[in-house]
Amino acid sequence: MSQVIELLRSGEYRTKLDQCIHCGLCLQSCPTYDVFGTEMDSPRGRIALMRAVSDGRLTDEQIDGAFATHITRCLACRACETACPSGVQYGALLEPARELVEHRRAPSRAERVLRWFGLQQLMPYRGRLKLLAAALWLYQALGLQWLIRRLDILPSHLKAMEAIIPPLTPRYLDYRAPAPALGPARGRVAFVTGCIQEAFLAPVNQATVRVLRRNGYEVITPAAQTCCGAAHTHVGDVEAARNLARRNIDAFLAEDVVAIIVNAGGCGLALKEYPHLLAGDPRYADQARRFAAKVRDVNEFLADNLHRPPHGELRARATYVDSCHLRHGQRVSRQPRDLLRAVPGLELVEVRQPDRCCGSAGVYNIAQPDIAGQVLDAKMADVAATGATLVITTNTGCHMQLVAGVRKAGLKAQVMHVVEVLDESYRREQGRP
Ligand code: SF4
Ligand code: SF4
Repeated sequence: MSQVIELLRSGEYRTKLDQCIHCGLCLQSCPTYDVFGTEMDSPRGRIALMRAVSDGRLTDEQIDGAFATHITRCLACRACETACPSGVQYGALLEPARELVEHRRAPSRAERVLRWFGLQQLMPYRGRLKLLAAALWLYQALGLQWLIRRLDILPSHLKAMEAIIPPLTPRYLDYRAPAPALGPARGRVAFVTGCIQEAFLAPVNQATVRVLRRNGYEVITPAAQTCCGAAHTHVGDVEAARNLARRNIDAFLAEDVVAIIVNAGGCGLALKEYPHLLAGDPRYADQARRFAAKVRDVNEFLADNLHRPPHGELRARATYVDSCHLRHGQRVSRQPRDLLRAVPGLELVEVRQPDRCCGSAGVYNIAQPDIAGQVLDAKMADVAATGATLVITTNTGCHMQLVAGVRKAGLKAQVMHVVEVLDESYRREQGRP
């Protein structure tokens, strides 16, 4: 813990804090400020709390009290970073603050077991996640999900987890052999399957591979890859995130590819931030930079490399819901919209507040179900106002949260990833609606 305190008191951290000029222009973009209406639940208020810790002005009780409460309530959506005229790197400020809260906390036994199981025993192992997805598919197929939801008997955190299980189809691609390019070959890319994405949203990954192939790319999927570590960083377990990062770097840098493609905004941001995560590791710092330089979000990559535009007509009114980590973290917001506009027949309608989080935010919707529920309600009201029948997004957590949101709001809409829309258009062009 003393290392984290040292980091918060370091000159580098204080320089980052000093970039905040207290103008308050970020307040209106902050979902938790919207929910609570209090300064301490705004970016400016949280930065003031970080400064107080950095100055040594908070007692241990205050750090464990107000500081922990307001830091934990932050979604880490980074909408404040985009809104800030002074270039405050809020994400870089938040990470050690969260680590400090996490190190000082004494989680309950049940939470420790759940975290150990989820973060250490499940997420790094795609095979185990697929077994879980198969069991949950059975739970859905036998009507148990319907019954459990109807009886409404689960405690709040379990209920929050259950609510985001999407309709499951536990059929998976065999990634052992490279998937060859279709048509003129443009190069070779490596594909990041993600952990939850592969187990719970397998059709998105299958569509990603097909769309990349159609655009002339051979797709290889390194078997030794693992979870990106975003969820571990999110809950302050930075050391576990570093270990996963090292494994991914070893797995992907062994391949000769033009790009490392990721289709989940949150995972992509975590991968692009490996140089920051491993800056203090002399063995991996340079490799982390080389790795991150090759990582491209699939929207980013396809917007530059859509060698075969889709021609199949898809008549629908659609809205695109940004992943915060893609929009604010990776600054990728134009590309998915450009790709969707390339689909004949698709009418794209913007939500009123496209920069707003949906409440998924890593594991926030499970850890803070009440606040996440309020943030989701605001997002779904915005989506409903567009009249869209297709809700399109680009991140695992957002996808699952929006499926739950559509059901909760009683909307007649389907949730899809951008690559699924492109894939559908390609299918239709071949006369296969
Ligand atoms: S974070 Fe940026 S926008 Fe918010 S108060 Fe500070 S300087 Fe202003
Ligand atoms: S990251 Fe999101 S929730 Fe946290 S302070 Fe910034 S805008 Fe608010």
